[in-house]
Amino acid sequence: MFFGGGGFPFGDIPGMGGPGGPRTRGASGPVNNKRYYEILGVAQEATDVEIKKAHRKAALKYHPDKGGDEEKFKEVNEAFDVLRDPEKRKIYDQFGEEAVKEGMGGGGGGGPADIFDLFGMGGGSRRGAPRERRSEDVVHKMKVGLDEMYKGSVRKLQMTRSVKCASCSGSGSKSGKRYTCETCHGSGVEMKLRALGPGMVQQIQQRCSRCGGGGYACPPADKCGQCDGKGLAPEKKVFEVHIEPGHRHGSKVVFRGEAGSDSPDVLPGDLIFILEQKEHGGFKRIGTDLFFEKSVSLLDALCGAHFHLPHLDERVLEVASTGVIKPDSWACIRGEGMPIHGRPFDKGNLYVHFTVEFPDEVTPKQAAALKAAFGGPTPNGAAPMAEVEEVRLLPVTDIEQEIKARREHERRTGAETYDSDSDDEMRGGQQRVSCAQQ
Ligand SMILES: [Zn+2]
Ligand SMILES: [Zn+2]
Repeated sequence: MFFGGGGFPFGDIPGMGGPGGPRTRGASGPVNNKRYYEILGVAQEATDVEIKKAHRKAALKYHPDKGGDEEKFKEVNEAFDVLRDPEKRKIYDQFGEEAVKEGMGGGGGGGPADIFDLFGMGGGSRRGAPRERRSEDVVHKMKVGLDEMYKGSVRKLQMTRSVKCASCSGSGSKSGKRYTCETCHGSGVEMKLRALGPGMVQQIQQRCSRCGGGGYACPPADKCGQCDGKGLAPEKKVFEVHIEPGHRHGSKVVFRGEAGSDSPDVLPGDLIFILEQKEHGGFKRIGTDLFFEKSVSLLDALCGAHFHLPHLDERVLEVASTGVIKPDSWACIRGEGMPIHGRPFDKGNLYVHFTVEFPDEVTPKQAAALKAAFGGPTPNGAAPMAEVEEVRLLPVTDIEQEIKARREHERRTGAETYDSDSDDEMRGGQQRVSCAQQ
């Protein structure tokens, strides 16, 4: 929506439109639908290819990283963003800049266009090809177990998409003719005015109520019975999502052009599955390495541990320790980590973290045996001091909990007030209280 747009004989309300809003121009002037063409230096009849070429040239010239003018660069991208999109261009040609910016919900508009396309970074297979209008991609998240990412798996999913109606090949009519919508003249947009108050009118752009924004509407007599004139029909399809060994959290499985279309005139979007990794069987993963928590008894830690480790592919690894296992220590099993995507026989490492379970108590008999085994008690510390004090060790189950309790204790007993900055404030407060009481 916008206020006091060009061509409307209502009050001139300057400065409306918020951040990134309309550029000032004569409120009573004609619709400005030439500026974007001027910015790119192309004719109004320019083809998509010409526009793309002009944008590339201008963007290279003004790119801030190459010492260009940042404002200009923004304008160039803003213009391109609109002119490369046939729908936005149509609206721009008909209603001007504000209509595109305000009406199509683009917010500030003029984002950094296709910067990645432009400099050949990423962008994938569509780079360089003429830009055709496509429907939105459809993205689904898919939770996948770590075991599936290890072994690979196939998920089957049935999806219903809108595809071109087979019986009218997308025309929507029995005769195969495409009828331009009379309400919006093919623009897909309807303009409405609403009075807000004296001298103030709001112009609202809406998706055309007759054609639903598609720009085409078939007269009832010629409507295709199969799709009710829409040109699109629902189609069910089963997709097999192949999760490959080594796929990661965030890996994408893409079905090009399988997302269906929102109009028979545009190419279908891509159907994309983004994998979300779930942990499995106590394994954690960092890149191609796996991490496993193992707890062993004190006896095993000292005398040698021997255990079975069920792996992600149902193999069972037989593991034997060499030497003493110290608490909170790590060991590595080479080549038993995650497979590398595309090279399933190359694998990362499997790291095992050991916790040692100590017994809660040792009987006198065990103590005697241990003393015998380890060569008896060791002499206590250094040489005896002149004076010693006997103290007791008390158990602390959770040191963090203990510290919290100590803090609380300090606060209650006021031990803290003498070394904190709030000292004076507190005394002041007390003074005020006593004053008030007098
Ligand atoms: Zn229409
Ligand atoms: Zn049809």
